[in-house]
Amino acid sequence: MRITLQELELHRVAVSKAYAPGALDYQGAEFRQVGPLQVDAVAELVGSEIRIRGHLGTRLKASCDRCLGPVEIPVERDFDLFYRPMKAIAREEEVEIPEDELEVGFFSGDGIALANVVNEQVTLALPMKVVCRSECLGLCPACGADRNRETCQCSPVPQEDSPFASLKGE
Ligand SMILES: [Zn+2]
Ligand SMILES: [Zn+2]
Repeated sequence: MRITLQELELHRVAVSKAYAPGALDYQGAEFRQVGPLQVDAVAELVGSEIRIRGHLGTRLKASCDRCLGPVEIPVERDFDLFYRPMKAIAREEEVEIPEDELEVGFFSGDGIALANVVNEQVTLALPMKVVCRSECLGLCPACGADRNRETCQCSPVPQEDSPFASLKGE
C-alpha cells in the first residue's frame, strides 16, 4: 500500500496491516520472516515531510553466527520516521527536528510505499550478532565439527576439573 501526499494533505492516515511470510522481499537478507508481520502506524504531513510512527512485530529466523544452527528472533520495534521530499534538499527550509532523536529518510514521487518502510525497519531490527545461545561453542574452524555436539581431534577443548568451573561466568 502507498501513503500518498494527496491523501496526507487532507488528513493523517492510520494504517494497520499484516504481511504474511514471503509477502515482503528482503532482498538477499540473511534471515527469513517466519511469522506474520503486523504493523500499526500513523502517517501525517509535517511541513513538507512525511512522518510515520508506529510499531511492528514479527518473528524472524536466521542462522547462528557460530554454529549455523537456526535461531528464532522475535522482533518488536517502535519507529518514528521522517521522510523528506527529494527535491526539497536544494531549498532547505529548516524544520525544527532534533536530528539526533529521529531518523530522516527521503522520498520521491507522490508518496512512500509502506512495504519499503517496514522492510527497512525489520532489517534494522536484526541484531549485529546472531547466536543461538550465549554459550554456543560454534564449529571447529579446522574440521567443521559442531563443538556443541562433538569433540573433534583438531584442538583439545580445555577441560577443567575444578568443581567451580561450572560456576564461572566467563
Ligand atoms: Zn550456535
Ligand atoms: Zn575439528
